[in-house]
Amino acid sequence: MPDNTDLADAVLSGEIPWPLDPTRPYDAPRICPLCQRRMVVKISPMAWEAACSRHGILRSEWLER
Ligand SMILES: [Zn+2]
Repeated sequence: MPDNTDLADAVLSGEIPWPLDPTRPYDAPRICPLCQRRMVVKISPMAWEAACSRHGILRSEWLER
């Protein structure tokens, strides 16, 4: 994975909304909101991590801040 925080920066700053399906808010995003590429998603029982090969990762734990 690239050492890139573009996606995290954009979402955590509020520049773009969390890319979540409102009907399934606990599901990880599948598509990067910055480039529309498919994201690599890792899911554990309590959390998810989604990674874009260009824009870095997004973690569900950051939602709770
Ligand atoms: Zn991307």
